[in-house]
Amino acid sequence: MLVGLRKPCLADLHAARRKRARLSDRSPTTILACLPPLYIAMNNPAELFDASRRRLFRGRLLRWFGRHARELPWRGTRDPYAVWLSEIMLQQTQVATVVGYYKRFLSRFPTVGALARADEQEVLRLWEGLGYYRRARQFHQAARIVVAEHGGQFPRDVETVRRLPGIGRYTAGAILSIAFDVRLPIVEANTRRLLSRLAAYRGDPASGGGERLLWHFAELLLPRKRTGRFNQAMMELGGGICMPQKPRCEQCPVATLCEARRLGLQADIPRPKPPAALTPRREAAVLLRRRGRVLLLRCPDGGRWAGLWDFPRVALECEKPAERRRELAEKVRDLTGVAIEPGELLHTIRHGVTRYRITLECYAARCLSLGSPPDGATLKWLRADELAQYPLSTTGRKLARLASAAHRAQRTTPATAPCPPATGGAWLRRRRW
Ligand code: SF4
Repeated sequence: MLVGLRKPCLADLHAARRKRARLSDRSPTTILACLPPLYIAMNNPAELFDASRRRLFRGRLLRWFGRHARELPWRGTRDPYAVWLSEIMLQQTQVATVVGYYKRFLSRFPTVGALARADEQEVLRLWEGLGYYRRARQFHQAARIVVAEHGGQFPRDVETVRRLPGIGRYTAGAILSIAFDVRLPIVEANTRRLLSRLAAYRGDPASGGGERLLWHFAELLLPRKRTGRFNQAMMELGGGICMPQKPRCEQCPVATLCEARRLGLQADIPRPKPPAALTPRREAAVLLRRRGRVLLLRCPDGGRWAGLWDFPRVALECEKPAERRRELAEKVRDLTGVAIEPGELLHTIRHGVTRYRITLECYAARCLSLGSPPDGATLKWLRADELAQYPLSTTGRKLARLASAAHRAQRTTPATAPCPPATGGAWLRRRRW
């Protein structure tokens, strides 16, 4: 059964024929690439993987997993809270990055009740550096719902689980199958690629039709029992062997059952996406100091880094340095109500956020006068030693270190000390705000 794919019309066939005729390279890969999606993505998983092939597949996969599964802190636990935490942290994040965060978070909040009682700021502080902070806020909100509405017991019904903030079809399937062996399939980045290759699916796996086909295939492969172990084995195979570039087919336990390998199409499946174009953007942040404290503001809900704190930071459009300073002062006053005089450029950080390639300039700034902050803005003037308690973005934390270093230098350097040479960081040692 093909799900959601357009039936090719005569025009598609003519177009494919014309394209193929123009090609000097007549390799099977090139010819397949010319065909309309239906002809290539025609594998019906139910026919391709009949009952005996599915049995063979499960047996080989699970034996391989028994021998080669990596030791990870969340492996072996059936505690739904711990499984849930690992699944949320692993979304869009590498396993190696998650391990330390997972251990720290679990030791601070060992139960769903402990998390539900926590202050959001502390939750975000523990999440700091892991990115995608919405995950942390939704996880926290969902923990409160589990405590308030389910007596602290993680629900076992998939529909109830999917109503919790931050839990979609994949996460619900992963938690319920791993913690309770509920028979639910999973499709995430690694398994999507693996399933596409196993069935030699040449369409776009992220399209509506592709999604339906792969979820159907994942469900078909599921055993009746120990589905959690099977799902983990699929993720392990997808992440460790069936890699995006250069899959390790020679080490793959199911290589003889893989359609993409049989057709020699591993490198072409899934169809590579064109790299996203990055938009350059210039931003500026100010270390605005007043009476030994620096100004931070809370990032509003619905925007970038919602719930975190940040130094006043704005996008700049002017090109000339003098105009940029004027623009910076105006925009900071609009953002905070504080009139400032921008000082030296302290530091420049280049980083990427979603589709932007950002050049962030960090300026020292002097407070000229205080005004009323705009409606909804939450501002705090903090001592340097208080900055560690507040959750900041990665670049925000770099700026906080800069502010703390300046503060320390100011306390230890006598006002009459000779100025060090004006090289990188010199400003920190000699400048008095
Ligand atoms: S044979 Fe290669 S392409 Fe097929 S599933 Fe195994 S690693 Fe992936």
